[in-house]
Amino acid sequence: MSLAKTIIIKSNMNCNLRCKYCYEFNRNGNTYDSTVFDINQLCYFIERMAQVFPDSKILWMLHGGEPLINGLDYFNTFVECIKRVNREYGVEFKIALQTNATLLTDEWIKALEDNIDLLSERIVSVSIDGTKEINDQARLSKSGKSSYNMVLDTIERLRKSSLVYTTISVVGEHNIDKPDEVFSFIKSLGSNLCKFIPCYNYDNNGTPELLGIKPSDFAEFMCRIFDLWMHDLPKQDEWFVIDPIATIVSKLSGTFVTWCEYRQEKCDNFVCLYPDGELWLCDTFNHDSMRENAFLGNIKSISDEALIETFSSPGSRCNYDDFYKLMKEKCQKCDIAEYCCSGCLPCRAEMQRCSTELFNDYCKAKHRLINHIKEGVSLALSQS
Ligand code: SF4
Ligand code: SF4
Ligand code: SF4
Repeated sequence: MSLAKTIIIKSNMNCNLRCKYCYEFNRNGNTYDSTVFDINQLCYFIERMAQVFPDSKILWMLHGGEPLINGLDYFNTFVECIKRVNREYGVEFKIALQTNATLLTDEWIKALEDNIDLLSERIVSVSIDGTKEINDQARLSKSGKSSYNMVLDTIERLRKSSLVYTTISVVGEHNIDKPDEVFSFIKSLGSNLCKFIPCYNYDNNGTPELLGIKPSDFAEFMCRIFDLWMHDLPKQDEWFVIDPIATIVSKLSGTFVTWCEYRQEKCDNFVCLYPDGELWLCDTFNHDSMRENAFLGNIKSISDEALIETFSSPGSRCNYDDFYKLMKEKCQKCDIAEYCCSGCLPCRAEMQRCSTELFNDYCKAKHRLINHIKEGVSLALSQS
């Protein structure tokens, strides 16, 4: 049976940083846990997937916490397993890495370069939120020290390597009023792909906490980034791709996009694997309130039959399909549904649980950003 999926491996639930907004530990438990996903169990599962889905293309994304904490031996064993399984079963398994970049030594860079053919588009994705002043308000070590210089040093070394690096920036209370500064800074880092992710942390009444911001604030931030990008466009020697702007432009022009938030397929293209063996749809689902919508089973006890069903039709293993329909009800008469595609469903569900105002603000923000980009693109086309 053929299968194309991304499997997010939570290789540990630990981190050497203590970012003030850290979603994983704020949403799904208050403690950092030193348990590491047993490498033998992980390799056994990778081989089992190759046996059960012999024509599959799976992207195995090492995630955390911070995946580099597990060390190079762990990574090398993981990579050797992927290579062997590709050879023996004819599957096309690739790897990806999401890291805070503070532990990416020269040895790590060499190990990634040695396996560049396995690395999806040669990319290493690095988290950084802006200048030192901005970054130091959120991304600190366990002892409260700045992580900025370590990340900048890593980016310098990545620049000299054969790897491609992209950046991912959280937009929260610490940088929401500084879009111009953030834009120039991220651009100066020299990567040609950057992604902005909103920090949607709220208390049970929908009041922003832990550097959280409202969706409409994020929309204003991104509108300004779009204006700066458009203004800069004629001066750019190379493409500087910014998401979600690039994804929205693609949606407006009817081009295929990969970002789940802007696709009708949504969450059933992902499976997230936790160190205790639990399988969930994407890690955005709240483990306390959304178990029935997204929990799929445990690799330690799941039969081959159930494994096939889980990966080929995850919605049938939990209440996801009903949840999907419910969260799309509001979108049926929406004038931008074709482009917005209902956004991130569990994210909207959490907002709805906390506050109607917040839930409605999500849609207001989508309208603001999508319509602003639409007008900007139309204006640019009319002048060309
Ligand atoms: S680097 Fe990531 S996992 Fe670590 S504390 Fe920051 S947000 Fe959390
Ligand atoms: S939960 Fe949100 S981020 Fe995760 S797959 Fe679904 S739409 Fe994408
Ligand atoms: S803006 Fe709101 S109602 Fe419209 S498609 Fe997006 S999520 Fe649905």
